[in-house]
Amino acid sequence: MRMRPRSIRARDTLIAAVIAALVLGATAAGVDFAVRTTVKADLLKRAQVEGRKVSGGVRDGSLDGPIPDETGGRVLIQVVEPGGHVTNTTPAAPHTVPVSRLWPSSNVRVRDYIECGGVWPHRRCSVVEAIRVTTAPDSVVVYSSERVPSYLVSGLLEMALATGVLLLALLAAWITWRVVGRTLGPVEAIRAQLAEISATDLSRRVPEPPGQDEIAELARTANATLDRLESAVGRQRQFASDASHELRTPIAGLRANLEDASMHPEDNDLRAVVGSALRDTDRLESIVTDLLLLARIGTGGRNAQEPIDLAELAGNEIRRRTFTRKVNTHFSRHVMVRGVRMQLVRLLGNLLDNAERYADSSITVEVTRKDGHALLTITDDGAGIAPGDRERVFERFTRLDTARSRDAGGTGLGLAIAREIAQAHGGTLRVEPHSPGARFVLRLPLPR
Ligand code: ADP
Repeated sequence: MRMRPRSIRARDTLIAAVIAALVLGATAAGVDFAVRTTVKADLLKRAQVEGRKVSGGVRDGSLDGPIPDETGGRVLIQVVEPGGHVTNTTPAAPHTVPVSRLWPSSNVRVRDYIECGGVWPHRRCSVVEAIRVTTAPDSVVVYSSERVPSYLVSGLLEMALATGVLLLALLAAWITWRVVGRTLGPVEAIRAQLAEISATDLSRRVPEPPGQDEIAELARTANATLDRLESAVGRQRQFASDASHELRTPIAGLRANLEDASMHPEDNDLRAVVGSALRDTDRLESIVTDLLLLARIGTGGRNAQEPIDLAELAGNEIRRRTFTRKVNTHFSRHVMVRGVRMQLVRLLGNLLDNAERYADSSITVEVTRKDGHALLTITDDGAGIAPGDRERVFERFTRLDTARSRDAGGTGLGLAIAREIAQAHGGTLRVEPHSPGARFVLRLPLPR
């Protein structure tokens, strides 16, 4: 389970190390080349200057006696006759053996090169300038040489540079490892806590690191999701418990009736028993139908919708019903909305049922347009709904006490269904203040 963050950490570390090694390696190679070139150019320059002085002295005969050492023993100079006999040297130069066997020809009188001898680790190299003093066949040759520093010969320079590159690459890797580890630490904490939460209880929250960075945002979003999840699960649980509770009452009634009838058939009028059982079954059926409808609203998607003239729909629905109260209508024409006809009919039906049930003498239905919305209001002149109950009536299975005493027929799901339908259509359904009576307002978006 720790694989993922760890692998990001390892991957980033590897990338950093490789990049550091490449960049530093290229730099080191450049440094190596530059050092070698400048050091050798320096050595050669000095050997050339000193060698030419001596060859000039030999040629014009101004050099007599041993060659003076003007470089503190760094540049070694020999004058060598054909045959390899050393005739003159600077004090520190070998007196018997020539430093080089290369004998410049009379047409290329001056040669410079690097002469190496011995085996590692005692290998030595020198920069040599060989000058044939004249073109005459018996001309002497002046060898002017200087040792190449041992760090260039033994590879010490390269080793030092390589060690530096390695150490710096390791440093880069270590820093990356630490930084990425520190960055991913909270992610791991969040993941661990989430795993724990999904296994145990939804009331816990992931740790929120301080600040505004991406990880803090991730933690906040995860917690917001958990909030919604927890309340959704809570609502579902509440709904299931309310639903079972609602179903239990008619089932208990039904059962009591049937038990009584089966135990005392002689005391019971079969017709009455069956009638009462049918009423309980009806009630059960309507509750279950409502519950099913509630579960289905909004699942059809946009395809199930069609253009609907709201005023026409309301007019048809009112004509189809019989009312014991007077119904007034004010309809604007052509208030077109998009919706699922069956559902909007159901919404309207629920509101009209309630209005008919609670009105004293009259009901007013209006369809208008306002602020880019279609508005449908149903107003009755009954007892109204107390401000404190105006949201509560939309909750599932809510029946206000007065309603219970007046009429036990409703399932308490009518307004919950109506609001769910309104929301599935992108609209709202609210109780708005009105006196006397209750006013329900449905707002649906008008298609542009
Ligand atoms: P029911 O099936 O009981 O009618 P509803 O969800 O339709 O359930 O309504 C919930 C409660 O809201 C009703 O029991 C009633 O107390 C209250 N109510 C609904 N409409 C009106 C209204 N027009 N006037 C007064 N009270 C209402």
